[in-house]
Amino acid sequence: MFIPSSYLSEKIEFVKGIGPARAELLQKELAIFYIEDLLLDFPIRYIDRTIITSISEAKTDGEYVQIKGVLKDFRVIGQARGRRLVALLSDDTGSMELVWFKSIEWMVNHLTRGVEYVVNGRVSRFRSQYNMAHPEMEAASQKKLETFQTFIPVYRSTERLTKRGLDTKGRNRIMKPLIAELPREAFTEYLPEELRKQFRFPGIYDTIRMIHYPANQKQLKAAENRIIFEEFFFLQLRLIKQYLVRKRDLKGHVFDSVGDHFLTFFHDHLPFELTGAQKRVLREIRHDMGTGKQMNRLLQGDVGSGKTIVALLAVLLAKDNGFQSALLAPTEILARQHYDSLTELVADMKFEISILTGKTKASERKELLRMLRLGAIDLLVGTHALLEDRVIFDKLGLAIIDEQHRFGVAQRAKLWKKGKELPPHVLVMSATPIPRTLHMTAYGDLDVSIIDELPPGRKPIKTLHKTEFYRSDVISFMKQEISKGRQIYVVYPLIEESETLDLEDLNNGYEKLLIFFPRPDYQLGVVHGRMTSDEKEKEMERFSKGTTHILVSTTVIEVGVNIPNSSVMVIENANRFGLAQLHQLRGRVGRGGYQSYCILMTGNQLGDDARARIQTMVRTNDGFEIAEVDLALRGPGKIQGTEQSGRLTFRKADLIEHKNILHAARETAKVILEEDPELDSDQYRGIRAYLEARHKSAEWWGRIS
Ligand code: ADP
Ligand code: MG
Repeated sequence: MFIPSSYLSEKIEFVKGIGPARAELLQKELAIFYIEDLLLDFPIRYIDRTIITSISEAKTDGEYVQIKGVLKDFRVIGQARGRRLVALLSDDTGSMELVWFKSIEWMVNHLTRGVEYVVNGRVSRFRSQYNMAHPEMEAASQKKLETFQTFIPVYRSTERLTKRGLDTKGRNRIMKPLIAELPREAFTEYLPEELRKQFRFPGIYDTIRMIHYPANQKQLKAAENRIIFEEFFFLQLRLIKQYLVRKRDLKGHVFDSVGDHFLTFFHDHLPFELTGAQKRVLREIRHDMGTGKQMNRLLQGDVGSGKTIVALLAVLLAKDNGFQSALLAPTEILARQHYDSLTELVADMKFEISILTGKTKASERKELLRMLRLGAIDLLVGTHALLEDRVIFDKLGLAIIDEQHRFGVAQRAKLWKKGKELPPHVLVMSATPIPRTLHMTAYGDLDVSIIDELPPGRKPIKTLHKTEFYRSDVISFMKQEISKGRQIYVVYPLIEESETLDLEDLNNGYEKLLIFFPRPDYQLGVVHGRMTSDEKEKEMERFSKGTTHILVSTTVIEVGVNIPNSSVMVIENANRFGLAQLHQLRGRVGRGGYQSYCILMTGNQLGDDARARIQTMVRTNDGFEIAEVDLALRGPGKIQGTEQSGRLTFRKADLIEHKNILHAARETAKVILEEDPELDSDQYRGIRAYLEARHKSAEWWGRIS
């Protein structure tokens, strides 16, 4: 957070109260080496000494509190190691025991019965009694007003640190004089004055003093705000700068002609009218591909919003400009499905589509790769197999990645390399909406298009939560739907760690269903991960052809599968699924014109999080809203696809709690970079100095500007 100075880079062993032994420990345990590190190890919380808690309210295990009461009595009890001093403190609301195991004699000499004390310490529970061990005591009459009104910082600690006296008290003994004597000249301000005024941020020197020892809540808030803002702000500056530079430097193929393929398809083959959102997104993509810069676009659209047709139109545009395209799908089933539906869509056009997966036979593959290199294949659909080095395109102009959370950055890079002189345009499609806040930090380098409208005539899926008690109702409902000609998915969770048990669950469930849905009136199928892909595919085919009424499966059907005749999704043990996954699963139904249902089965007992997930599913079909709840429940680190981004760890900032600050930081960063892209005007020189100092090793600012 600082512009370096000699004071800040002093070793901590020379700080008063630390010395070599503790310095080594602080290095080992908390990676604190220099004064700068010590100052940046912000308190994790504060004990608020401005508040006196009544004794009855203070009775919660593990709380640090300040209480005030009259010392009724005290005495020494127990023998040898059990010897201790016990005192009783009372206020109007109750009493609490105070206990000392050490310094007993000294305490006995200094305590006075009948006197009112202010007592600070941590409450703990022992055999259903609450007490406070080794509290800080001060006679209320002697207590100076100023010590009443302070926040005591609490720092991270470890067992080893505590043993060496570096607990809260010990750390305070070091930090208090350090902060009190902090040399102002060691701190160079780097945020422009105008910006600090606008947001009422204290200067950097005061910020550091106030974050460690705030005089009041207001000071604390002001210091925190600046720190949180900075964490977002510098990250946003970097992301936006990278984005701008890439926009400027990364050349791409120019697709400037709209030709026969695109127009023929658009006018003669399009099976429906595009929704407004699809049209808008298509315009955005066409614009990107015409600029001469490489497109890197994320296409977000809820399940069933019609991303595929948009992708196909982009592919046809590539063809019209003399380029091939690649479509990468996460699973064999999905690749096959894309291949089938796209082939059908372009049936009587002169347009070659091929499919390449791990299962493509060697002889077939050889021919396919030959054709691909010759440019005789216009679109190659495939799985990971498509990324292998031997897959060489004649002229790859567009690479589309479907359901992107299954692919990492490395795979994206491999696709890039398949372009010859220039990288292909990249379109990443995702059906797992990413909340805006997260997207701004994790995917700041992609442009985003959003399809926020479903094709007309879709009936919103009705979602119900049912407990085991209602099983027979669910069965009769399933029968009713089957009699209308519909098909049903029944999904079981499958967690790797308990795979065997889960499979047992699935098999038991399947056996039970066989009783309720006997052959030959009903046909049931099963799909799970232990089957060979041949077996899986056969089962999927039987279901997609309508041969089977009910498909019992694990989550293999989660992504993308499109069988419009299925109208019911029963999710067993729904409490064990994450929100994003539930939403994905639900998206498998509601794809035709029929009223569809999602039934979430659980036991009676539900944990808080599970209940929140189920309630959210019942309440809304909106993937973006669900993504927000998911983010709130799980925290940003666990959202699919962002784990490796490494950009989501902050000291104080929190994507959910500080959403508004994030927005302000992003907007500010944008305005500044628009005004002064190189940051060399007087007012932004500080920001540039900061960035250069902080990223010296990477030399990124110099490198990317
Ligand atoms: P997803 O965005 O989940 O990949 P798909 O592209 O598979 O969705 O589309 C889902 C279904 O909606 C498909 O059957 C597709 O043909 C249909 N569809 C797409 N766009 C429209 C539209 N504008 N009008 C009517 N149906 C559409
Ligand atoms: Mg799809």
